[in-house]
Amino acid sequence: MITVSHDLVDVDSVLREGGVSCPGCSARVRPWGSARPRSIRHGVEGLGPVRVHRPRRGRCEGCGATHVLLDVLLAARRADAAEVIAVAVESKVAQGWGHRKIAAMLGRPVSTVRGWLRAFAVCADRIVEWFAALLLRDAPDAVAVWPAPAGDGVSAALSVLLAYAAGLGQRFGAVGPVRWVRSGIAACHGRLFCPGFWAAVGQHELALPVGVPAR
Ligand SMILES: [Zn+2]
Repeated sequence: MITVSHDLVDVDSVLREGGVSCPGCSARVRPWGSARPRSIRHGVEGLGPVRVHRPRRGRCEGCGATHVLLDVLLAARRADAAEVIAVAVESKVAQGWGHRKIAAMLGRPVSTVRGWLRAFAVCADRIVEWFAALLLRDAPDAVAVWPAPAGDGVSAALSVLLAYAAGLGQRFGAVGPVRWVRSGIAACHGRLFCPGFWAAVGQHELALPVGVPAR
């Protein structure tokens, strides 16, 4: 899985021009049809539109692997847009809200929101390690804006994700702030909210992704 812009026209032209590299071997990825469609729930104040996304697929010229090119607004294996899960995490950390209150605010089932928050909490330590290493590599000047982690693992994870987004914004002169959920999703190829991904990272040495993720 590779994370790309949410604009399909953009994705098509970048793919055709050879602007997407394989996360495995860094060779060029060429267009290779589309993945199956996914219905994604949007909207962070009550259920917004359900949109059908049909991600592009690409095939690596080097190793032959096929990759799904996941829109940066989406989270792998989740039926809700990444932004919705991000708001749940922020509400938990910044407001101290519980999953029931967050579920009511977002217009999502309580069990779904509880699942997101549990998954994020389980992965929090790995997220801190991974993004602290990325921060040092991609935006060392921004390490200073990363406050000493206070509170629990979830707060520390959100804090390092915020620092990483701020660091990328500074380094690349972004117009406006870089949203932490986008830089986070891009840096781990859509798997920011996937416990399986973080468990696998935990079993191997910390292998950082190739290159600097897209804004
Ligand atoms: Zn490859």
